[in-house]
Amino acid sequence: MELRGNWNYPTSVRFGAGRIAELPDVAKAAGISNPLFVTDPGLAKLPMTQAAAASIGGGVFSAIKPNPVEANIAAGVAAYKSGRHDGVVAFGGGSALDVGKLIAFMQAQTRPIGDFEDIGDWWTRADASGIAPVVAVPTTAGTGSEVGRAGVVTDETSHTKKIIFHPAMMPKIALCDPVLTIGMPPAITAGTGMDALAHCVEAYCAPSYHPLADGIAAEGVRLVKENLALAVKNGGDLDARAHMMAAASMGATAFQKGLGAIHALSHPVGALYDSHHGMTNAVFMPYVLAFNRKAIEDRIKRLAAYIGLRPSFRAFLDWVLVLRGEIGVPHTLAGLNVGDDKIEQIVAMAPKDPTAGGNPIALDKRAARTIFRRALEGRV
Ligand code: NAD
Repeated sequence: MELRGNWNYPTSVRFGAGRIAELPDVAKAAGISNPLFVTDPGLAKLPMTQAAAASIGGGVFSAIKPNPVEANIAAGVAAYKSGRHDGVVAFGGGSALDVGKLIAFMQAQTRPIGDFEDIGDWWTRADASGIAPVVAVPTTAGTGSEVGRAGVVTDETSHTKKIIFHPAMMPKIALCDPVLTIGMPPAITAGTGMDALAHCVEAYCAPSYHPLADGIAAEGVRLVKENLALAVKNGGDLDARAHMMAAASMGATAFQKGLGAIHALSHPVGALYDSHHGMTNAVFMPYVLAFNRKAIEDRIKRLAAYIGLRPSFRAFLDWVLVLRGEIGVPHTLAGLNVGDDKIEQIVAMAPKDPTAGGNPIALDKRAARTIFRRALEGRV
């Protein structure tokens, strides 16, 4: 392996229980005086969201779908322009954070959003000068979008999830208050927590040289091991919530190194079936680990030892399987209402997904079909 790489650390993070009270100061520090507050329709009804929006004034935009679509961004850009806003406060899970970041990015562009997909140097097509500042306030602990330079959007015509990337899409400040995640229902806690785990595990296994990301990913996996089941079982466990929130930011910091087949399969499934991203990753995880075994066995042994397991691949895989069972992740795709009706489409889309390149074993159509079939049949 060539000992060479481009390494990026995330942004300024204000982390801790109760720190949402600092939102007005944080917005000011990010240079925002008339924010567009972007959230989702479910969160918009919650008192904690209304209090946060009221604390900074400005406008509220919440017309977004989970697995947001391009029309959501276009509507948000229109709201941003008509309200003459000068920045975005994005408040929510990955869906709201991504939409907020994409609004701040797209209001400065003339080209269509698809032109900025995370392919080669397409991001250099963007006009970076007018990209608006973003403050990101996560309310789930999974995607880590608050410290990421990308937003995910579904193209409804091609039914594909596109990763839109630009370095300046990184939020100026992430305000991470674990109290905001206390009300997350167990299923969303489980799905989002497994998303954080998927980011850490796939980044750790990706083949490029990035020892910073490896270290962050390994500690992220340990935090998930110690805390995810606690957070699912007792949503009010603030320490477990805090550690999961940290693990989520760490996963997204680490995945600049690469992702892999979990995400490459999960993206088409999410786009075609509208399944929850993290839960979809959670279903695929053991099948992908087992498929990649030859290429990752030594690394996973080290990881297993670090998180307090026997230093063996099997011990790690068993831990993942037990954790899934404990927190209610379905063992097969049937649990997500996914069958084999779109298998041809999915196995054609997965190798083209921008995350496929990070898989330690080349993910061609045949490999994608093997993993997908095993996840349908429950054969790890
Ligand atoms: P989400 O944002 O879609 O939220 C899921 C549900 O949880 C929503 O109904 C929401 O209202 C609810 N919710 C959120 N916080 C809550 C709280 N504190 N209390 C009660 N309910 C709450 O889910 P997510 O998993 O955070 O994000 C998924 C999206 O993020 C997908 O579109 C995925 O593709 C994208 N994603 C982006 C990145 C990135 O790097 N930008 C990484 C991974 C995933």
